[in-house]
Amino acid sequence: MAEDPSLSLFDLPSTIYTKTTKGKGRECLAKYSLEPKTTLFSVYPYATCIFDSFKKRLCARCLAAHPTKSFSLHCLGCDQVYFCSHDCADQYLKDHDQGCCDLLRKLATLKKVDRHMKSVAKLVIMIYWQRKNDEGSFGLVHHLESHYDDWSMEMKQDWRRIQDFLWKYLSPLGWLLSHETEVDIMHLVSKVESNGFGIYLENRLDILTGRALYPLASLFNHDCSFNCEVEQWTEEGIEEEQVIVPMDDTQDDHEQQLKVYPSVFSRPRGKYRQMLIRTTTNVQPDQPLTIGYVDTTLPLASRRQKLLQDYYFTCLCQRCVLESQATGASKVKEKRGTAFTLRPVGTGFGWAHMLCFPWPF
Ligand SMILES: [Zn+2]
Ligand SMILES: [Zn+2]
Ligand SMILES: [Zn+2]
Repeated sequence: MAEDPSLSLFDLPSTIYTKTTKGKGRECLAKYSLEPKTTLFSVYPYATCIFDSFKKRLCARCLAAHPTKSFSLHCLGCDQVYFCSHDCADQYLKDHDQGCCDLLRKLATLKKVDRHMKSVAKLVIMIYWQRKNDEGSFGLVHHLESHYDDWSMEMKQDWRRIQDFLWKYLSPLGWLLSHETEVDIMHLVSKVESNGFGIYLENRLDILTGRALYPLASLFNHDCSFNCEVEQWTEEGIEEEQVIVPMDDTQDDHEQQLKVYPSVFSRPRGKYRQMLIRTTTNVQPDQPLTIGYVDTTLPLASRRQKLLQDYYFTCLCQRCVLESQATGASKVKEKRGTAFTLRPVGTGFGWAHMLCFPWPF
């Protein structure tokens, strides 16, 4: 096996390796024979951003969702980050310095900018913030693919306001490396666009609440008959009847809060939205490991259109090739993909793919 030397530096799980082939790009392959339902890894997001419309409902640190309404504990400086508990607030705010706080507040009030672009900008800010706090972990993000060089002039123009904003406020903060320019920021924007995953409300795939970057999961290529599924481990297990009183930040009584979210608090903080990637079928050694980037229950033309529009490639997976060979008369019956609970929401061309999901505004 010809492993990617650049990626072998990272702590990849022992069951997988990556290789880059000319024309095919990078792929993730099985090192050994794998049984169905083998968990390849579980990872935390590198960075997350919650959409403005959900900022009060999801904890900025652990992403636990308020079962019914809004959290009230929040950063008074920016009013952009809300927390499920004093513990999450303390842990988060110790790194939420003045620079980060000002930047989030300024972004929230930035006018004449599409809100989808704003959410990408927010995740970009959170990625730089994460890098500033832990530079060593940025390697896998650095290796993600950017399509910025393929963007049309028109598209680059559409992003100009965000580019100017990020450059203007990021550069004086000292978060950028000395050689990094506006173009480097836009490469990160493009990486976020095509590698971001959606954060959904528990059991509600129709309610998208934010974006998250899981760089390791982004090593997995798409196949319409994927052999791996992606799942987020969330605040599953909150039982409605255990919700005794609504959260109220005027109460400092910890006991009371424990009663509000007992199953959330019974687990360590920050465990939420761990991503699991599992095999769905038997996988042979050196076989590519793949996930579905789009709804694979869609017909061939729609799948290909979405993949081309959002991820810049024409799918030539075995299933697509077979289906495209079939004539209209002997139309191939659509095979339903295994249900997966999460899919990337990256979009090559702005936010087109996001529109597949009801937008939560
Ligand atoms: Zn929390
Ligand atoms: Zn703040
Ligand atoms: Zn395909």
